[in-house]
Amino acid sequence: MLLSVSLQSFQAIPPKRIALLKKECGIETVGDLLQYYPFRYVDRTKFYQIREISEELPYIQLIGKIDQIRLQGVKHKQRLTARLSDTSGSIELVWFQGIKYIQQNIQNGIEYVVFGKPTLFQQNWNIAHPELEIYSAEKAKLAPRLQPVYPGTEALKRARFDSKAFSVLISQVINKCRGKIEESLPDSVRQMLNLIALEDAFRLIHAPSNPEELQKAELRLKFEELFFLQLRLLQLNQINRTSIKGFSFGKIGNYFNDFYKNHLPFELTGAQKKVLKQIRSDVARPIQMNRLIQGDVGSGKTIVAFMSMLMAIDNGYQACLMAPTEILAQQHYSGLKDLASAVGLNIGLLTGSVKKKDRRPIHAQLQSGEMHILVGTHALLEDEVQFDNLGLVVIDEQHRFGVAQRARLWAKNTLPPHVLIMSATPIPRTLAMTLYGDLDISVIDELPPGRKPIQTTHVYEQDRHRVLAFIRDQINLGRQIYVVYPLIEESEQMDYKNLMDGFNHLTDYFPSPKYQLSIVHGKLPAADKEFEMHRFVKHQTNIMVATTVIEVGVNVPNASVMIIESAERFGLSQLHQLRGRVGRGADQSYCILMTGFKLSKEARTRLETMVETNDGFKIAEVDLMLRGPGDLQGTQQSGNLDLKIADISKDNKLLIYCRELAVKVLETDPELILDIHAPMRKKLDSLKQKYQNWGRIS
Ligand code: ADP
Ligand code: MG
Repeated sequence: MLLSVSLQSFQAIPPKRIALLKKECGIETVGDLLQYYPFRYVDRTKFYQIREISEELPYIQLIGKIDQIRLQGVKHKQRLTARLSDTSGSIELVWFQGIKYIQQNIQNGIEYVVFGKPTLFQQNWNIAHPELEIYSAEKAKLAPRLQPVYPGTEALKRARFDSKAFSVLISQVINKCRGKIEESLPDSVRQMLNLIALEDAFRLIHAPSNPEELQKAELRLKFEELFFLQLRLLQLNQINRTSIKGFSFGKIGNYFNDFYKNHLPFELTGAQKKVLKQIRSDVARPIQMNRLIQGDVGSGKTIVAFMSMLMAIDNGYQACLMAPTEILAQQHYSGLKDLASAVGLNIGLLTGSVKKKDRRPIHAQLQSGEMHILVGTHALLEDEVQFDNLGLVVIDEQHRFGVAQRARLWAKNTLPPHVLIMSATPIPRTLAMTLYGDLDISVIDELPPGRKPIQTTHVYEQDRHRVLAFIRDQINLGRQIYVVYPLIEESEQMDYKNLMDGFNHLTDYFPSPKYQLSIVHGKLPAADKEFEMHRFVKHQTNIMVATTVIEVGVNVPNASVMIIESAERFGLSQLHQLRGRVGRGADQSYCILMTGFKLSKEARTRLETMVETNDGFKIAEVDLMLRGPGDLQGTQQSGNLDLKIADISKDNKLLIYCRELAVKVLETDPELILDIHAPMRKKLDSLKQKYQNWGRIS
């Protein structure tokens, strides 16, 4: 396909330039170049009069004559100035760099189109480093009216490869390709949706002559991106469902029944039952299961995972659970151990810190099949870990694996084990469909009964004394407290200082030996972190002061107060995750959001949302609206979707539409073998080569 042709085949482009584009922008092919979209456009349809210049104006365009060209200042601080005048007044143009070149080329008394951003300096308006072009009525008619602005880099700037250079190069290439860029959609689809041709869209997105053209080009290219993404994900899902062979867990046996009848510590919620049924029907088929369970913190995913393990064990298979951190693995282990021993199952723990001599018996028991369940961290992936018959892998939290790791996991049995992923980050349905499109998704959308909703309040800095008194009362009632500080790279020094100041302040207020405080942050050695966490878990300390390292899944049911310092600096889903650390026991729990008085509108919305609702899905919707998907917690990897023009949060409707259309197309023609679908198939094939692990999670 023409879009995959290398730029090198265009002899007119110098090799140096090709190398630069590859290095700086990852542009190698015609398609890469055409998909290097402008990030904004400057309206060049309007000309201003000099006297109209005011504070609010961004970049503007003027027409006038230039005179009084002067070199000013001394050697190293030289600048070139010129006067631009039209019938309404005059303004100064200034250059600090490239003076010689301008001096040689600028002409007195000729009409120029001048483009730039006016700024006020010592009461006078001037434009620094304006773009200049000799005015010609002919040319003005031909020039693109909306001038594209491309993302640049330092190296591009140094090579003088600016937006204009991009425009010129792209139009060169497009002209060469005229009439040859393959259309990827059948006419019928294009007509139905009133979409312009792909080639036209590429041309217009880089040189629209009016906003309507731009809009049409955008729509077509967004559609292109989202539709083919959905087609690909759906196809992957179809392949997963039909052709990746797996073990069939044909029966429900003694372990499951015994546990269900005699040892289940509580009645399952309706949502838990529903999800268990979905899993049951998945694993009964001889096809690998790839299922994601989404459920808010505390919704009870663990028991569902455990009962799925019982299904495996009842059929003669083993199961394992992988957690992202050592402490989480330990917590899972101690929780599951009670459940497992109730029905007489053998369970083990394997993490990086398990000593070599303690590993041997684990390895041996796994191989002989004596050990039914293994809980652990990444250590499970090691080659020495060999199962007798691994049938189910449960993965906790957003634990993403690369292709190599996946292969190692799969290689642990003759067929790939069933995979169950548990995620505590609720994400809106449309986003889930896109990010995890190749997985089947189950949602636990109901909390166990009798939970007291966490009470959330927003408190301003000047009321801190009230918060301190509240902490004291709660500690006296036997509760434990989290105090969390933000920590971001850009302000690391300052953030650590705040954390330490806060800690010292708290130790003054809550002196030892009556009170004990823990502190955990990223600069501590791992062993110290573990040690402090354990002290808190065992209730040897009253307050845990920490950065967000505690965010992921720690379970301390006795902790009932979460104080979040500088709460305005956290994202919504992060706030929600942090809040989820409390409310795990029988006591009323509280979340206190501390902020200063000055808040941005967005920050205020986030805090209000937190105070208003405990519903993770609602929070995720607001978050998606405020921030866009790139920043959503747990979806950082959405980068591997490689969207260049569509925006999952803003183009939600289009996304759903594309999804539905893709479903329809694949229903009638799963392999895209019909003639009418030939262009789609061709496009999809070329994309497959480019993104080999699109959307894979497990
Ligand atoms: P998460 O989904 O966050 O992993 P867990 O599985 O850790 O949640 O469950 C949170 C708490 O709720 C645990 O203490 C668990 O025993 C309890 N729990 C789970 N399901 C139920 C239920 N149906 N009824 C009552 N308590 C439950
Ligand atoms: Mg959990």
